[in-house]
Amino acid sequence: MQFMPSSFAHIRSDSMGSGHYLASRGRRKHRGVDFDVNKDTEILAVAAGIVTKLGYPYSPGDLKKGHLRYVEVTTHDLHRTRYFYCKPVCAIGDEILKRTPIGLQQDLQAVYGTNMDNHLHFEVIDRLDTVLDPIAYLKTQEKGNK
Ligand SMILES: [Zn+2]
Repeated sequence: MQFMPSSFAHIRSDSMGSGHYLASRGRRKHRGVDFDVNKDTEILAVAAGIVTKLGYPYSPGDLKKGHLRYVEVTTHDLHRTRYFYCKPVCAIGDEILKRTPIGLQQDLQAVYGTNMDNHLHFEVIDRLDTVLDPIAYLKTQEKGNK
């Protein structure tokens, strides 16, 4: 199976929280959007760019969450698109085309239990370091397809 983030994809809503942009996370706000995605699904890039980071959302030494990863693709218009809980199938410096696989969805239920649905957390940051509404960004990308 494959999944590409889109403005019409299903957003996480489970007993552990809402996956919408700016949803409450205690004192903080959710800075991305969570799409329901089954584990091991191939994640496809929403826009072309260069792989600029293969990161760890938590300390790699964390016994529970240290294996979780994210992939950052900097697009040609210099937006950093970040795909979290995504095991990379690419390397830093790779040129990525739109709709090509960049990683595999990791199993969050193995970490958090079945109260949390498996999901891809997707973030978009512009060149001024502003965190954007991912859905608005995706709509802009989708207009370009027509
Ligand atoms: Zn999230």
